[in-house]
Amino acid sequence: MASKILKVRVDRERCQGHARCFALAPELFELDQFGNGRERGDGTVSAALEAKARLAQSNCPELAVEVTEE
Ligand code: SF4
Repeated sequence: MASKILKVRVDRERCQGHARCFALAPELFELDQFGNGRERGDGTVSAALEAKARLAQSNCPELAVEVTEE
């Protein structure tokens, strides 16, 4: 059985650039030139960073951080 792959994604439409995601989980998020957060690379979250992904999701004031399992 294939193990699940956890991913984070920032909804660009919702994000208002508070940078909390980046502050809480710089391993998973970066900021663009406007200070808006976005996932690093393809957003894949290693098992070690799952808690940080959830933390960033629950702390985004715009509900722009999505955590999905594939
Ligand atoms: S915490 Fe939310 S609103 Fe702020 S930069 Fe990250 S995704 Fe955007």
